[in-house]
Amino acid sequence: MKLTWHRRQLHLRHPFNIARVNRSAETRKEVLLVRIEHESRVGWGEAAPIQYYHQSLDSAEAALARAAGLLGTSPFRLEEIHERLWKEIPDQSAAIAAVDGALHDLIGKLLGIPVWRMIGLSPERVPLTSFTIGIDDMDTIARKVREAEEYPILKIKVGTPDDETLLRTVRAAAPDKVLRVDANCGWTPENAIDRMRMVAGFRVEFIEQPIPAGNLEAVAVLRNASVAPLFADEDSVGEADVVRCAGKYDGINIKLSKCGGIRPALRMIHAARALGLKIMLGCMVETSVGIAAAAQIAPLVDYVDLDGHLLLADDPFEGIGGARGILTLNDDPGLGIRERTA
Ligand code: MG
Repeated sequence: MKLTWHRRQLHLRHPFNIARVNRSAETRKEVLLVRIEHESRVGWGEAAPIQYYHQSLDSAEAALARAAGLLGTSPFRLEEIHERLWKEIPDQSAAIAAVDGALHDLIGKLLGIPVWRMIGLSPERVPLTSFTIGIDDMDTIARKVREAEEYPILKIKVGTPDDETLLRTVRAAAPDKVLRVDANCGWTPENAIDRMRMVAGFRVEFIEQPIPAGNLEAVAVLRNASVAPLFADEDSVGEADVVRCAGKYDGINIKLSKCGGIRPALRMIHAARALGLKIMLGCMVETSVGIAAAAQIAPLVDYVDLDGHLLLADDPFEGIGGARGILTLNDDPGLGIRERTA
């Protein structure tokens, strides 16, 4: 198997801001597109390294260079390959997710079937995806919400001193839509209850990561107030976190770049179900390659937030849909994506 990769610069439709990162007016994002070639077939994967988890394009590239020598000769030996990757590059989950995605794409193409079929899922069971509205000035937020008219579910980023004005602005532009709220660690154990009550007044479905990660006892206190269901994101990184979140949160947000791809995500989903946790599937700002990998397992989850590709002005791939929040698992072998021809 031959593994290669290249950096790809992407352009966002709008600057994207969240509570714990002050990125100002950044409208560009760089990812790594990974190719694994075997028996004249090519599998695609994507790495969107997350700085918050101490991963960068440089560290992911270094990890991929090592991963190239760890693949062995058969793409079907996923379990063995994962074992070697986690042993050699344990802190580079985004790079591992890219390899995992490319191997799944490749296996599907070698077998001539889509990945969702390979793992026994029903494509019509993919929940609608939410569409994310990042933090911005109120005029821009109102405009973004109007522009997002086709999407029935919005995920609103909060965690600012202006949260109430922000949600009022959103509700004025979208009185009847399903709203979900993500504080990205932006509240404190002291002010979170008040913030949660305020947010709940705007009829929200659930609240994601209200306070900084690592304080699960405080989360349990917030959850006991029964204001709205609470979902872990920054508190739910990989497999070991599922059991820690049980009984503290109502659900967890699984992202392939945090947990290392489809294979570990499946284990997290099964563990979460056994522990009575609801499951949301999330993403980074990334192309249809990364989104398609996550979408393959979307029939297994309760809530979907796979809109990374919808935020882009220049997605280099296509095949997964997303219009009106509807993601499509097609019948093409592998991840069901193809390079866009200009
Ligand atoms: Mg989040």
